[in-house]
Amino acid sequence: MENRGVNFYVEAGKRAMGWHKEYLKEIRNCRFDTIAVHGIYSMQEALDFNQGSLIEPVYLSTSQAYRDSDEMEAALGYMIPTWCYSRIANPSMYYYEGVLALLEGYGSGTETSCLGTASGMAAIQSAVDPFLVVDPKRPGAKMNFVATCQVYGGTFQQFAMRKEKERNIEWRKVLHSNDLSEWEKLIDENTRFLYGEMPSNPALAFFDLKKVIELAHKYNLPIIIDSTVATPALLRPIEYGADIVVQSVTKSLATSGTSVCGAVISRKNIVSSIDNDEMKADFCTYLKLLPNRDNGPNISPMSAMFAMNDIRTIRSRMDMVSCSTQKVAEFLENHPKIEKVDYLGLPSNDLHALASEYMFLVDSEHDARYGKKVNRYGHLMSFRVKGGAKPTRDVFDAFQRIYRATDLGRIKSVATIPAISTHSQQGEEGRKLAQIPDNLIRLCVGGEHPDDIIKDLEQALDSLNRKRIFKGSPEYSAAGASSAKLQ
Ligand SMILES: *Cc1c(COP(=O)(O)O)cnc(C)c1O
Repeated sequence: MENRGVNFYVEAGKRAMGWHKEYLKEIRNCRFDTIAVHGIYSMQEALDFNQGSLIEPVYLSTSQAYRDSDEMEAALGYMIPTWCYSRIANPSMYYYEGVLALLEGYGSGTETSCLGTASGMAAIQSAVDPFLVVDPKRPGAKMNFVATCQVYGGTFQQFAMRKEKERNIEWRKVLHSNDLSEWEKLIDENTRFLYGEMPSNPALAFFDLKKVIELAHKYNLPIIIDSTVATPALLRPIEYGADIVVQSVTKSLATSGTSVCGAVISRKNIVSSIDNDEMKADFCTYLKLLPNRDNGPNISPMSAMFAMNDIRTIRSRMDMVSCSTQKVAEFLENHPKIEKVDYLGLPSNDLHALASEYMFLVDSEHDARYGKKVNRYGHLMSFRVKGGAKPTRDVFDAFQRIYRATDLGRIKSVATIPAISTHSQQGEEGRKLAQIPDNLIRLCVGGEHPDDIIKDLEQALDSLNRKRIFKGSPEYSAAGASSAKLQ
């Protein structure tokens, strides 16, 4: 082949970016469901480059080959669209990031970008670490960040152990996230970001997002929101001005439960007093091209593909499971053996009114069944069994339909006891802070008919009065041995 020069490829790259931008403009004008179904995979992409494949292709290749040295030079200089090497990027990862950026930014009128990660925890680490760098103006100062204490157990460990204990970065805990003065009191010149999970897993804490965003920006700080429990079908923090959203895509977004994956989504031009213009201009693209290239926590093409196939139906699914959960929560609230039900959809919940200002089924006003904005509160709920830990475990052990698993967001109903699972590592003190009593069962209602889930709960609660018969034999496959403490 004749030598065609770097510019030949740069020009071809510009043409591709041109038609890609046109497509983006069109898809941005579509409704949420259309975006979820098609994402950024256009018909042109399918017909011209992917043998007409209706569904986004999976390229199980570690790397991309180039036509000649000029194309390689243009690619590695990020001058043309390229994915180069699957630790940094991959076509499937690109489609995954594209759809999540659009969904999380839906209705915000602002441009967003996304970074795909191998897990929700990797998304959180990727999102917070760039802010935890030494300030050359105050090189000896101890850094801190201000975050709600009601967070997912893994997040609690990452903040308490990996940041605070190992790296001497102070986690200033907000105990009452609806007390704005508490957030404000914790902020000082060494604070790097504000962080909140809402609704939180499993306690369903919920704060006044607009006010906390305003506070963050008053101090020139970015605000990061873990919005896993809501998904973009019910809440999109960027619409209210949040800088960065993290998602454990593993959960409701990828409901089938075949892959662990995560995402960071950011607006353009985030707020931060850190002197790094490239990072602030396009946070996720910066993460992708620099820190995550070097650290390597990115998503595999198979996980991206599995997740995308579930994401297509996220809106109608969140509608369905929210309605079912409402019914289950109402049943439990009226049950004599239940001490308390925590679900944002119940008027008895202290945070019901506040959550109702934020959690809406996206596009319900354009849905023939509703014709107006309707509240939906997701499928995570928890309930407390009267009498403490023992009867709680008995009820839990009696479930026949609801799976006992440390998981949520599944199309199948799953339940766990947080005190002995997700929140066991943080000890009694940490559990008290996160408000996790030992009679709490976290339940995530799936896609089954709600009457069958109610039936299962009913028989499990009735079983408190009868002797239980174990089902299944305690045989283990060798595959579990490495994670169990057997060796
Ligand atoms: C599960 C979860 C995470 C962690 O995500 P993984 O994909 O399991 O790493 C983070 N935040 C919330 C709210 C979660 O439920």
